[in-house]
Amino acid sequence: MIQLLDFTSSGIYCPVADIYIDPWKPVDRAIITHAHADHARIGNRSYLAHKDSVPLLKYMLGEYISIQGVEYNEPFYENGVKISLHPAGHIVGSAQVRLEYKGEVWVVTGDFKLIDDGISRPFEPLKCDVLVTDSTFGLPIFQWQPQQLVFDEINSWWLQNSEDKKVSIVIGYTLGKTQRLLNHLERSIGPVYAHGSIETINQVLRNQGINLPEVQKIDLKQKVDRNALILAMPSIIYSPVIKEIQPYSIAAASGWMTLRGARKTPNIDRGFVLSDHADWNQLMLSVKETGAKRIFLTNSGYSSAFSRWLAENGYDVTEVATKFTGEIKEIEETLGVGVESF
Ligand SMILES: [Zn+2]
Repeated sequence: MIQLLDFTSSGIYCPVADIYIDPWKPVDRAIITHAHADHARIGNRSYLAHKDSVPLLKYMLGEYISIQGVEYNEPFYENGVKISLHPAGHIVGSAQVRLEYKGEVWVVTGDFKLIDDGISRPFEPLKCDVLVTDSTFGLPIFQWQPQQLVFDEINSWWLQNSEDKKVSIVIGYTLGKTQRLLNHLERSIGPVYAHGSIETINQVLRNQGINLPEVQKIDLKQKVDRNALILAMPSIIYSPVIKEIQPYSIAAASGWMTLRGARKTPNIDRGFVLSDHADWNQLMLSVKETGAKRIFLTNSGYSSAFSRWLAENGYDVTEVATKFTGEIKEIEETLGVGVESF
């Protein structure tokens, strides 16, 4: 069997094609699976990503980065390695990377989810011999509810707050989560505001043809209607101007809200379990569907239970240390403590 990918101190590397996937140290040539900061880093000489990631990456990393955008399912060749990107369903432009060489196929999932969020292209199952997969939520306790139920819960909470004359504040990942929320808010309840940097991302997405409802940029020094909902960054918790909008109720939307310790933190009043990653069942299903028997788990959360399950079910499994953080960084900022402390 060919070792088509190496796990190096700079990141996931294909020596035959001489190209890295989501490197965390600067390299000459990088394929970027998606535009979240833990996967897309500054300093690489050249970038390649799905074309829908290009405007986001330019916004985040600089207008003048050298970047090539490709379509899904359009293979290109690097020194005999056939490489193609396929929808990962995680956020706009997110891609799995498929590499084929001498009849053997490896797939790197990047971050992914199986359910259709209505904004990003839905996940495409791929067959492969070796799978390198995200395993952020690789514990059986992580089981997502149907997303409409979660959106209904959020809207009911907002309605209740507006009846109680409390402003509603929701914290979620700036790119991906926030747009999902925005698309499902019941606008008849009240006006929706967003933090300036969230609205800037929204605008980057709208400019590339993604339909997102209009929102007003928040200025906390101005009077906010009592029935308003604010889509915010975690930093709002520590901002002194938040006092100006009292009374308010503050919620976080993340897969980590499954953990009681995360929901009960004093920084938030409510936790909604909503994730752009695969849950336990989706992880198992996605591995089975690939047909791969050799699995590498890129560790950005809980991988040891999933690793054990795979080993017990006859898979050849290896956990790989990476610098990917999944949703952890943002949620830790919200809670003010490390996720491992729950
Ligand atoms: Zn991500």
